[in-house]
Amino acid sequence: MSERDWILLNPGPANTTRTVRQALLIPDLCHREPEFFAVMRECRVRLVRLAGGGDAFTAVLFTGSGTAAVEAAICAAVPEGRSLLVVNNGVYGDRLVRIARVHGIPVEVLAYDIVTPVAPADVAGALRARPEVSHVALVHHETTTGLLNPLAEVARVAADLGRRVVVDAVSSLFGEPLDITQDGIDFVAASANKCLQAIPGISFVLARRSAIEVLKSRPPRSVYLDLYTHWATQEQDNTPFTPAVQVVHAVRQALIELEAEGVAARLERYAENARILRSGLAALGFEILVPEGARTNVLTTFRLPPGVTYDALHDAMKRRGYIIYVGQGDIRNYAFRVANMGTLAPRDMDGVVAAFAAALEELGIPTPARG
Ligand SMILES: *Cc1c(COP(=O)(O)O)cnc(C)c1O
Repeated sequence: MSERDWILLNPGPANTTRTVRQALLIPDLCHREPEFFAVMRECRVRLVRLAGGGDAFTAVLFTGSGTAAVEAAICAAVPEGRSLLVVNNGVYGDRLVRIARVHGIPVEVLAYDIVTPVAPADVAGALRARPEVSHVALVHHETTTGLLNPLAEVARVAADLGRRVVVDAVSSLFGEPLDITQDGIDFVAASANKCLQAIPGISFVLARRSAIEVLKSRPPRSVYLDLYTHWATQEQDNTPFTPAVQVVHAVRQALIELEAEGVAARLERYAENARILRSGLAALGFEILVPEGARTNVLTTFRLPPGVTYDALHDAMKRRGYIIYVGQGDIRNYAFRVANMGTLAPRDMDGVVAAFAAALEELGIPTPARG
């Protein structure tokens, strides 16, 4: 396969650099040797630094996809006898509810439709009405539609009312502005293969030290995903289970490359990618599902043009080397998703727009641009 056979417009795994992929090819290595522990330590230090966590935060690595880190954070955060308020405006919010229920954590749900961000005043109301709620869990960027929830405002409300926040930032960390140190935020979960531009297989929790230290005295709800045990063991430069040794090396390389690019520059590149995508597709007649002001810079959900199925559009794009992404559930019947994370540069987005124009032409769909 040649370099970048597919341009990935799915929300992770995203396109990576050749150097990140090559970092997987290390000599066989035992995961309990100092050579591995040094790489793990370096990843954790770099993650906290790039996320702007300072001394107040620490990183815990998990072998598993983003959901592993999310589940570890949820099932650790809420003490016995307290409950969790979940903001649900999409598939990933729904997953937070399911995770809490499976672990026997009582859940209150604040539900919205898939294009409506949470109203911080609703969170305040729910927290005032429910003193038993100890934590709010929310998805920062709801990847179902490309919806941005107002995390900073929710964290402020929670902190004012003496509660703490668990954030699913799997598709927003290093893609959207995110101040993890803001008061109220205790746990932020993300993964290697989205805006970090590494390989699937590693996820992580950025944890406030004061919040993770208190877990020591609490019984865990999971053996494999016990946040405290993973952290305490990693703090001693060890690991409770066998990690994805090679993927950790790719993560280190991706972190080095993120530092070289600069987090602010990456956010700006994604924002520019999104601008080119949106204006180009608007000119072709595509409509965006999420209202302006609630959109992320990482992913856009467009309505399917009348008479075009997702499969037909997907296949026409794939013939041109571009992988678009299906909507989850019923959304697949009327919309599709285009992510602009990964190594994609603004000039690549011009190619994406041109491919959509050619795909529509192939499918016999008239566009405003062509008349
Ligand atoms: C990708 C993603 C996850 C994790 O999904 P995995 O399939 O476990 O990688 C969690 N939350 C959000 C918002 C995501 O976009």
